[in-house]
Amino acid sequence: MTERKVPLRQCLACREKKDKRTLLRIVRAEDGIHVDPTGRKNGRGAYVCRNITCMETAVKKHLLDKSFGMQVPPETYGVLKEEFDALNG
Ligand SMILES: [Zn+2]
Repeated sequence: MTERKVPLRQCLACREKKDKRTLLRIVRAEDGIHVDPTGRKNGRGAYVCRNITCMETAVKKHLLDKSFGMQVPPETYGVLKEEFDALNG
């Protein structure tokens, strides 16, 4: 077998499983919850598609709460959205 398995992750919003490099990682780290464009920060990660629709769904429906097992404050979602917008110019 020469085929190499790509690590798949599920998008929080659309529940599609994708190659994790095509998804955007959001990490709960010691310094808070942030978008992690490099995917290398330590902490618990969650993934969303790199598109505005999935990001907005995740923010609107507070989908990170379940992933991180906590109530993520609305202002944190606001920051994530800003970090996402900054990444996408
Ligand atoms: Zn998605």
